[in-house]
Amino acid sequence: MSVNASTFEFTVLGCSGGPVAGKTCAFLLKPSSIPFEQALENEVDCILALDAGAGVETIAEMITDCRKNTASVSSYFSQLYNNTEDLNYYSDNIGLMNPHPFEAVSKISAKSSLQLAKGILNCMSAYIITHPHLDHVLGLVINSPCFTRQTPIYGTQQTIDNLKNHIFNGKVWPTLSYLSFNYLQPCTENFSVTESIAVETFHVSHGITSSTELYKSSAFLFTETNDKGKLLFFGDVESDLSSNTKYNQHIWLKVADHILTNKLKAIVIECSSVDKKPGQPLFGHMTPTNLISELLNLQNICLEKKKATRHPLAGLNVLIIHVKETFDHLGDPRKQVLESLRRWNQKYDLRINFTICMPGISYFI
Ligand SMILES: [Zn+2]
Ligand SMILES: [Zn+2]
Repeated sequence: MSVNASTFEFTVLGCSGGPVAGKTCAFLLKPSSIPFEQALENEVDCILALDAGAGVETIAEMITDCRKNTASVSSYFSQLYNNTEDLNYYSDNIGLMNPHPFEAVSKISAKSSLQLAKGILNCMSAYIITHPHLDHVLGLVINSPCFTRQTPIYGTQQTIDNLKNHIFNGKVWPTLSYLSFNYLQPCTENFSVTESIAVETFHVSHGITSSTELYKSSAFLFTETNDKGKLLFFGDVESDLSSNTKYNQHIWLKVADHILTNKLKAIVIECSSVDKKPGQPLFGHMTPTNLISELLNLQNICLEKKKATRHPLAGLNVLIIHVKETFDHLGDPRKQVLESLRRWNQKYDLRINFTICMPGISYFI
């Protein structure tokens, strides 16, 4: 999709599910009509940080990559595995990708990469956090001394209370007066987080904390207020079959209408590992089989409840995040996850466009 036809620019700073640190889940979201350099020069408040497992150091590295014509961020996984493929292999829709999102920013030669990255950080309207696991908040914590102004942090009550009580508590990290913590109430429609982006919040299940207590993460449905295009973004999540809940079903019922009116531009969702042997624990995450069963459920809702004609998910962009790094002889886990998803996609004739997200890349959706 070209910049002009797209609604959002979704920039991946990190997308690993660990246990390797440095490029864990961190994303930027802004209307694609406002380029980063314009946001930076005019100090336009239009960028959202979605989770923050990485941050200013990766933005600086991406700017340096533009200046030196290197690809240290976008080729990050090729430094870990011997059998990675070219970038284009990982997407069924390569037109979405821009491998140099900070190209124009990097031309501002009077400033260092780190100074420019700090400038981008201070164009953030807000941080929106799906859940407080460290692979989703480490960048927010470590980068917080870079903030030069009041910075709002949004999440569900559980997320915010855990951040305040267990991280920004004066012991693990200082309680910083310029961070403001705000609750997002689930199922409150279209709460404006920037002038141009509104959000609706959902609870999702992400494993258990004890034999009786579910651990909740969040999903967010973002709406660009001008063209009404939408992006559905999941934090870590398990399938309804694993959790024995209907949290995902509730979200699919909500977004089916937006798929049929072509307003839903993409779903960003985790697929942490390849399928496991029956009985092996998933720790509150998804495998390709789990994800496909959720997408089949979404397709059924479109067909049966919403009376769609055939192939309602055809052309839908599903962006995969949070693949966990592996240490076995099979190498690149993203290839294995994508190959499984492509097989199921073909078997069920879903016609979805899968993309495995890569750090350093912007996706225009
Ligand atoms: Zn995670
Ligand atoms: Zn998690």
